[in-house]
Amino acid sequence: MNENHQVLFRKYRPQFFRDVIYQDLAVGSLSNAFKSKKIGHAYIFIGPRGVGKTTIARILAKRLNCERPDGVEPCNECLSCTEITKGISNDVLEIDAASNSGVDNVRELRENVKFNAMGGRYRVYILDEVHMLSGAAFNALLKTLEEPPPHVVFILATTEYHKIPETILSRCQDFHFKKVPVNVLQQYVESLCVKENFKFDAEGLFWIAKKGDGSVRDTLSFMEQAVVFTDGNLTGAKLRKMIGYHGIDTFSELLSDILDSSRSAKIFEKLENFFQEGIDLIKFTWDFLEFLNSLLLIKDNLADRESLNIPQEDLQKLKTQYRELDRETLVLLAENIFLIHEKLNQMKLRTSYEVKVYLEIQYRKLLLEREKPSVSGLLARLSDLTKQIQGDIGNLHGNESIPASAPAKPAPEQKQSVAAAKPPEVKKETTALENPFDLPPEKKESKSIDSSHSTGATNPNREEPKQNTSPMEMEKLLKEKFSGMEVDPDQFKNI
Ligand SMILES: [Zn+2]
Repeated sequence: MNENHQVLFRKYRPQFFRDVIYQDLAVGSLSNAFKSKKIGHAYIFIGPRGVGKTTIARILAKRLNCERPDGVEPCNECLSCTEITKGISNDVLEIDAASNSGVDNVRELRENVKFNAMGGRYRVYILDEVHMLSGAAFNALLKTLEEPPPHVVFILATTEYHKIPETILSRCQDFHFKKVPVNVLQQYVESLCVKENFKFDAEGLFWIAKKGDGSVRDTLSFMEQAVVFTDGNLTGAKLRKMIGYHGIDTFSELLSDILDSSRSAKIFEKLENFFQEGIDLIKFTWDFLEFLNSLLLIKDNLADRESLNIPQEDLQKLKTQYRELDRETLVLLAENIFLIHEKLNQMKLRTSYEVKVYLEIQYRKLLLEREKPSVSGLLARLSDLTKQIQGDIGNLHGNESIPASAPAKPAPEQKQSVAAAKPPEVKKETTALENPFDLPPEKKESKSIDSSHSTGATNPNREEPKQNTSPMEMEKLLKEKFSGMEVDPDQFKNI
């Protein structure tokens, strides 16, 4: 594998500006500098790892010292070019600032820059990870940057722009390098597969590009491992197996198992199978959560995101498949899965068996909650209602006044008592307080009506709820009555 790594990594490292992918801004600016013969003495390359900073620094160094340059490109054939390619040039010094971060290292460098170039025209210093330099080292470097010898070019490279002192930045021309998008990496990997005669499909390319996370170097590195793992057959199915990802079909099925109560047994079959196959159930839970989140993004037409773990080809398929599924259901489910995943991480269960048992219990709980008239919306409303009833009761006991926002809907039996204009017994209200879920909100209003000596007949438009209201009906009634209603917690401070 290591040999393979060397082959791909070295073989495809760009040796010309034109071969660098996606960093057009930096390449364009450097090309213009050569065209106009305005070469700076200090450059700073800023950007994430593995996107071509050092590669471009080397091409720049080559072009500066090339004996037979071709326009803005080096020849890559002369002695200077080949020495730089091999890393044996005396005129190009690559320094890892992370391991040479002290002031003494920079002082040594300052002594060193006084010497003229040996073979070429320029001495080029490439300082990688330059943000690692100490404060004193930066100060020492600044002195050199302020008065650089004419034959010296500094190329500083960093992944952490904010750690570079302003005084240094002001002495350098800055070039910003960007993460390479998945689709660009995908095309690049495809071109390499063709050259290397690897088998592949679109999904396989997607996963390789995806694992590269915007870095060409990481993409190539993963591709090398993938070539070994799949024996040069870079298909989506093999890649998914390699990275332990199940693909959208598995997650779609699990979602259907949860939403369709007749299929719920399949959830537990799946968990058992995954457990038997030795699949990481915690990672699976996270991947399922990502899938649900992706569905929400797809619904909101925000799916064309770099971070999405779904190949482009599958996005439209999912959009069609889940067009009818309501957003609220998805959000609630995603929230539940998120909490399950969080608890799994917190509990640090010792074995995969414990994880499986925990997940089984959590999924059963999830299914039970789904069987209720409403999972969270209704409960939230009921909670508000409980507080409101408690507040009203408190007020009744206090000054017999009723907040204007008190719910209004007399139950038949109450209405009858209202018609008889008899004051209701407080005891009944106490019962309501003890079990607000059994009490239609109407009771509160009947009290209100009695207090003001009005009757149910003065509200002819009111619905007449049936006795023994079923949970579904109850939910409907509550939704109608309290939809959009806000409860001010300050109103109930004394509870
Ligand atoms: Zn050359």
